[in-house]
Amino acid sequence: MMSHKKKDSAAETLKILKVMYPDAECALTHSSPWQLLCATILSAQCTDVRVNMVTPNLFAAYPTAESLACAQQEDIEKIVQSTGFFRQKTKSLISMSQDIISRFNGELPQTIEELTSLRGVGRKTANVIIGVAFGGDGVVVDTHVKRLSKRIGWTKQTDPVKIEQELMYLFPRNDWTLLGHTLIWHGRTVCMARSPKCMKCPINNLCKEGIKRMTAYESAANEKIIPLESVDRIKLDDHNCL
Ligand code: SF4
Repeated sequence: MMSHKKKDSAAETLKILKVMYPDAECALTHSSPWQLLCATILSAQCTDVRVNMVTPNLFAAYPTAESLACAQQEDIEKIVQSTGFFRQKTKSLISMSQDIISRFNGELPQTIEELTSLRGVGRKTANVIIGVAFGGDGVVVDTHVKRLSKRIGWTKQTDPVKIEQELMYLFPRNDWTLLGHTLIWHGRTVCMARSPKCMKCPINNLCKEGIKRMTAYESAANEKIIPLESVDRIKLDDHNCL
């Protein structure tokens, strides 16, 4: 059973994050739900910036699921190579496009079950599509959301599906999509994996890891200040007088 205190603290944290990132939205460039799906598949283990450098060429040559469904593996590989894991990603892009044509009449499905039945589409990707392309509610658990949820103290889980469930329980449904966006931006700009800027973080008093680091920082700082009464008095005499 989750405490009211935890829910209140989570709500307060999200309130601050919303103020910090009022324009938080998906950073992947797209002009249709299918394009967003392609971009999200390409974003696995790759930055959104890199994906946005690749997709204009991809969508110029293959603007729809119909065109990509008939594409040659080698041709797509050349375009998406720089996003990493390009062979698997290419197979997913082509197979997913073929399935959309053959199983879904050329229309992107809108349920998590149908979306995850497409090759290369896991729950994270499906939630991006539901939340961003269709205006639905989905908690996206990517590497940033996973790291921050643990640091802040919202979850102890490591499995993204379990984290998603805990976040869904902790936050009201209409906050799910924005929660993902704001956490992703906070993870990119303040709470980076290697060196989180806890001292400057506006949610540091609500974050488990932040409180721990701030306390450690303060006690380290205090240790350096030697109380006056314990300072050894140096007797100045002829020998040590400068
Ligand atoms: S206080 Fe530190 S660990 Fe917590 S969210 Fe902020 S930067 Fe991340």
